[in-house]
Amino acid sequence: MVAGTDYRRNRERMIRDQLVARGITDEHVLRAMWEVPRHLFVEEALQAQSYEDHAVPIGHGQTISHPYTVARMTSLLHVEPGMKILEIGTGSGYQAAILERLGAMVYTVERIKPLFVAARKRLLFMHCYNIHCKLDDGTTGWPELAPFDRIIVTAGGPEIPLPLVRQLADPGCMVLPVGEEKRKQRMVRVCKADGRVTSKDCGSAAFVDLVGTHGW
Ligand code: SAH
Repeated sequence: MVAGTDYRRNRERMIRDQLVARGITDEHVLRAMWEVPRHLFVEEALQAQSYEDHAVPIGHGQTISHPYTVARMTSLLHVEPGMKILEIGTGSGYQAAILERLGAMVYTVERIKPLFVAARKRLLFMHCYNIHCKLDDGTTGWPELAPFDRIIVTAGGPEIPLPLVRQLADPGCMVLPVGEEKRKQRMVRVCKADGRVTSKDCGSAAFVDLVGTHGW
C-alpha cells in the first residue's frame, strides 16, 4: 500500500491524535468524523494528506477546513437529528456531509461555480440526499427557506452578516469566524432565545475570506 493511503488508519489517528487529544468529547461528532471518508473530498493527488493536521487546498484559492476546526465548529453547533441547518461556504462539501451524518437537513451555499458544481456532484455520488446546494452569495442567506435552527459560516468576514441573524430560528444558534483582519478571526457563537440575541467568543480562528455583500 502507498504510504498515507491506509485511510481507515489515517482516520483513526486523526480522531485520536487531533480531536480527542485536544478535547473534542461529543461522541456523535467523533462518530460522524469517523464515518465520513474525508479523502474523497479532495483531489486524488492530495488524498494521502487529507487526514493530516492542517487544511488542504481544493482549488480556486480555497481549502477544506482543518479536521479539528470542523470538529470544533460542529461541537459548538449542538446539532440534533431533524434540524434544518444553513451552511455558508460549501467548498468541498465535507462540513455539510458531517452535519448530514448527524441527522440534519442541510442547505449549503457556495459562491465559486466550479466548487459548487464539484461539491454537488460529489455529494450526490455519495448519496447525501439531505444536502441541498445553491450557487450564490451566502452572506445574504437563503431567505425563502428561513428560519434555520442552526447556521454555520466556514469563511471569515469582518462582521456578523445581519441577514443571517434574521434568518436564525428562535431558539437557534450560529457559529462563525469574525475578524477585522483577514485570515485572523475570533470564533463567535451567536444565540437567539426569547427574542434576544447574544454572542460569545469561542477562541481564535484562521479562515479564508468570506466574500460578498456582508463580507469582504
Ligand atoms: N466548508 C468547506 C470549507 C470551504 S472554505 C469544506 O468543508 O470544505 C470556505 C468556502 O467559502 C470557499 O469555498 C469559498 O468560496 C466560500 N465562500 C466565501 N464567501 C462566500 C459567500 N459569500 N457565499 C458562499 N460561499 C462563500
